[in-house]
Amino acid sequence: TRARRLEQMQRRGRAGQSDNLADVPSRSHAALFLHFKRPVMITEGKMQYLYDERGRRYLDAFAGIVTVSVGHCHPVVNEAIIRQTQLLQHTTTIYLNHQVAEYAKELADRMPGNLKVVYFVNSGSEANDMALMLARLYTGNWDVVCLRNAYHGMSIGTMGTCGQHTWKQPMPQGFGYHHALNPDPYRGAFGDDGPRYAADVADLISSATPGKVAGFVAETIQGVGGAQPLATGYLPAVYKMVREAGGVCIADEVQTGFGRTGSHYWGFQHQGVLPDIVTMAKGIGNGLPLAAVVTTPEIAAAMAGRLHFNTYGGNPVCSAGGRAVLRVVDQEQRQAHCAQIGAHLLTRLRALAAKHDIIGDVRGSGLMLGVEMVKDRTTKEAAKAETATVMESMKDMGVLMGKGGLHGNVFRIKPPMCFSRQDADFLVDVMDTALARL
Ligand code: PMP
Repeated sequence: TRARRLEQMQRRGRAGQSDNLADVPSRSHAALFLHFKRPVMITEGKMQYLYDERGRRYLDAFAGIVTVSVGHCHPVVNEAIIRQTQLLQHTTTIYLNHQVAEYAKELADRMPGNLKVVYFVNSGSEANDMALMLARLYTGNWDVVCLRNAYHGMSIGTMGTCGQHTWKQPMPQGFGYHHALNPDPYRGAFGDDGPRYAADVADLISSATPGKVAGFVAETIQGVGGAQPLATGYLPAVYKMVREAGGVCIADEVQTGFGRTGSHYWGFQHQGVLPDIVTMAKGIGNGLPLAAVVTTPEIAAAMAGRLHFNTYGGNPVCSAGGRAVLRVVDQEQRQAHCAQIGAHLLTRLRALAAKHDIIGDVRGSGLMLGVEMVKDRTTKEAAKAETATVMESMKDMGVLMGKGGLHGNVFRIKPPMCFSRQDADFLVDVMDTALARL
């Protein structure tokens, strides 16, 4: 039957228009993790819009999993990439190139405190691996405190820091990772009382480690965990404890960096803390394979005399793209824009929650928002199947979002930062229709 369907489609010249990838054998060899029952075949992107092979337009509220920070094919980024592609595409990190040298300075200029040394790598996982290595080399300690519900990467090294079963494979998870209670204001036992959750970190340090730790790593808003902000006052309390135990504090800004959370460049700036190491990826290059670790000269000195090498880290084309992202964020004042549009979207989503009981929580900051779906507001039982149904139905109506959370029941709304007020209104209207159809 499948062969006949395919033959019929080919005869009609529609082979490229199947709703189901499995209908087209040549497309099913890639080991992909597809979100939808009827996947979309994206062929083009323009700022906050994506187009499929039939020319249908989608409002992209997930930005290629939070990577396309300033917009698909943003002209400033395009121009920078094209120009560099024609000049020099790659050398090696053992030579200098102008792009990487300038870029490191421009990035360091946008960091507070003494965060002035930049290492370039290719992905968030590598950046976090590097951060963990720096913390261990610098402190001479091994143990790391991380959070339940966290996501820091898919490498063997970072898998140990993840706090969700979904991201753990059945293999050794590394040693010395200690998962603290998640300071989750919606589901956690202590509501929004950050210091009470922080007490668990003190407990962990004194009971599960030699009393000394290499560090603490956390996202400033948990991304894969469902756009989950940390309870108020949590980070300042934990940073203090970790430093007293000889450790350094790592902020994973892979999703929260570059203005997305609104008003500031970095998520940690909302929490009144200054990390010792910051990791960044995704939005850094508007989709280019680029990532970085930024730290202080004192911590970087722990690498002095040691060979560290990354074949593609600081590639000139990616660096040129990364520099263009910084220019756009500054010139177009994306942080202020994210704060403004995010506040509007949050208000509208909260109004939607008042209308649909299935929405248990609406949260986030700037253009990093989460809508948690529950079967019952008291038990907070996850409405997982309904979440998938609404996402698919919104996709069919032209809006793409992400899904996450430990129970797969949170819509993740993290569009390119050029998202407009009209886009926000369209998204909420479409969500309203999809929820009403449930
Ligand atoms: N940290 C965070 C907060 C992330 O969201 C991700 C990716 N989802 C990573 C690290 C890992 O990044 P990558 O997939 O580029 O390795």
